[in-house]
Amino acid sequence: MPIRWTPWTMVTNMGRRSGGSMPHPTYDFDVIVVGLGTAGAIAAIASAKRGLRVLGIERLSAMGGTGTTGGVLKYYFGSTGGMYEDVDRKAQQVSGSIYTPAIGIGAESKQFVLEEEALQAGVVLHYDTTVIDVIRTDKRLRGVACFSPERGKYTQTCQVVIDCTGNADLCRMSGCKIRTGRQLDGMVQPFSNVLFKMERDHVRTFYMDSGYVHTTDPLDLSNKIMDSALSPAHLRSCFGENDYFRIAPQIGIRESCHIEGETNVTLSDILENRATPEPVFWAFSNLDNHGIDFALESSLLQDWSVNAGLWGMKLSVPIPLEALIPEGYDRLLVAGRCLAVDHDLASCVRMKRDMQKCGEAAAVAAYIAIRDQISLRKVPYGELSALLRETGCLDDSQSEEARSARSSPGDVRQWMTSIADIQAGLASDSPAIAIWSAKRIGAELGNTLISWMEQADEEHLRKHSAIALALIDRQEAATVLLEMVRERDSFIPGGRSRFHHARGYTAVCLLGRLAHQAAIPELVHILQDSGLCTGTNGKKGHHPSEEDEQFQYVSHAIVALIRIGDRHPDSRLLVSQALVDFQARPTTEFYMSLWGNSHFSLNMGARLREVIEQALLRWSATNADSRTQTDLTECFGGKIH
Ligand SMILES: Cc1cc2nc3c(=O)[nH]c(=O)nc-3n(C[C@H](O)[C@H](O)[C@H](O)COP(=O)(O)OP(=O)(O)OC[C@H]3O[C@@H](n4cnc5c(N)ncnc54)[C@H](O)[C@@H]3O)c2cc1C
Repeated sequence: MPIRWTPWTMVTNMGRRSGGSMPHPTYDFDVIVVGLGTAGAIAAIASAKRGLRVLGIERLSAMGGTGTTGGVLKYYFGSTGGMYEDVDRKAQQVSGSIYTPAIGIGAESKQFVLEEEALQAGVVLHYDTTVIDVIRTDKRLRGVACFSPERGKYTQTCQVVIDCTGNADLCRMSGCKIRTGRQLDGMVQPFSNVLFKMERDHVRTFYMDSGYVHTTDPLDLSNKIMDSALSPAHLRSCFGENDYFRIAPQIGIRESCHIEGETNVTLSDILENRATPEPVFWAFSNLDNHGIDFALESSLLQDWSVNAGLWGMKLSVPIPLEALIPEGYDRLLVAGRCLAVDHDLASCVRMKRDMQKCGEAAAVAAYIAIRDQISLRKVPYGELSALLRETGCLDDSQSEEARSARSSPGDVRQWMTSIADIQAGLASDSPAIAIWSAKRIGAELGNTLISWMEQADEEHLRKHSAIALALIDRQEAATVLLEMVRERDSFIPGGRSRFHHARGYTAVCLLGRLAHQAAIPELVHILQDSGLCTGTNGKKGHHPSEEDEQFQYVSHAIVALIRIGDRHPDSRLLVSQALVDFQARPTTEFYMSLWGNSHFSLNMGARLREVIEQALLRWSATNADSRTQTDLTECFGGKIH
């Protein structure tokens, strides 16, 4: 006998409130949430639970976005608390009873619970519907234009739009200022293919990094979707018999673009303690940047992840409401990964827990603004924070101070202040915290670092002191750094980092940071004979292969030379010649491995060429003095041709 079934949307909708408690005659809805993914699903439910009339628009046919249809089922850090925890609890209850259990939160279970919560709270759901335009008067949003296959094009008006598309689609349609990627080449973090498989009766997903994509370029995005589906990593030959399950239809985008907000939260703000005193939630993670091409990242990110080796250290990042408001706009909020953080910090402020909290915070701000008929910018922090504290979305125990009081050393930022501790740390094989502690003390430690650097019988102390000295901009570090480069020092300092960096190419990076002209011959030598750069001290990180080592040396050497040329116009001719010679080589293929993907590595040759071309173009605008070029060549004993 067939199962007798009443569609559950009919049951759920019967108890639904009609219209919410704050009807407004002029608008179809109070809030329209566009994109019902990680942030948007919670934003819609939280708004409706506050009594607002909510329309949720989703281009796919399920709620949860990257966390459900995208197959990212597990949590990675993020801070706990907030209404998403109740959703997860319910999803865990249905997982295993009505759907196949999963490692993490099962996609179908979470979708089911999100839909149930949304309908019960009164959210009107428009699936299979894409927002194609905004309705606005100057910088005040009034609604959206959508398209669905059944209904065609239609408009809906509202008092506040929450852009949860992950790509700031609505903000871009509204003309807001947008930033994309890192400064050197505009690239965002690598994307992944998410693979599903069965493991001991559980659905398990894992993420295989597949390269870079320009997320807002439809042609590039489509090509990467097609290419990555056919990548060797996904073919049957790479999997055991009956092992392969399926590839998620959406590629996993870690980062797209970011709005220019009323406030922008930057990595330098966080590291230099200029964070907001008025957070709406705390994000919590390490700077989980997946690319190993750190040479192309910002100098600050290099200092943290490569030069100090602090990749694994976690940061607690307070996010203010102003980072969810596009600069100059009203009635428009963003929630999700495109909030106003800089690219360096985006690798930390993107985790699912935090993005769900971001959705909740946006909803509560919209509620107060609509109730009091005030601008989003005028929402009083006192009431906003009180409401967010009620659910645990905002929780002072997640501040960095509170976390550091209860964490184990090295987990979150706890710096050394005693000179003896710093010396012992620098003399050890895990010097990361000591290096950054010395950098924080700064100039007043300079001469002490020089004296430690001169201790010939203590290799670690000497070399790690040179690294710390370079981080406080002292040129004296160059002698020892050059020694590390010449010997291709393969020692990899230990610590909590999953990305390990050999001391030799760390020194290359630092010589570029110092823009040390006398390093030019050695850097050019790396470009001429990159085959010399191999060997590790046995530690395995995310880039243990010889190919990776070569890529690291060459990419850091190129960027170091460019930094020297940028800082010292008189060395541009010399540097240009070396870079042009490098470009002229018959092959400039340099491969970089990808996280979670042992099946192929990515040719970064073209990317390096682009970086060189940009520098040469920049410099060609200003002609260098040929006499200076001659002098420099002579001063290096004619080593450069
Ligand atoms: C491969 C990968 C692995 C990750 N691993 C982890 C992990 O282990 N743990 C962790 O905590 N985090 C992880 N993350 C990070 C986290 O999953 C994401 O940063 C987060 O889910 C992004 O949430 P979001 O709401 O910004 O975007 P999404 O969840 O992607 O939601 C955006 C939604 O908007 C919809 N949409 C877009 N445009 C439109 C439009 N014009 N009209 C209508 N709808 C639209 C989309 O269909 C989607 O549903 C990972 C991310 C990736 C990509």
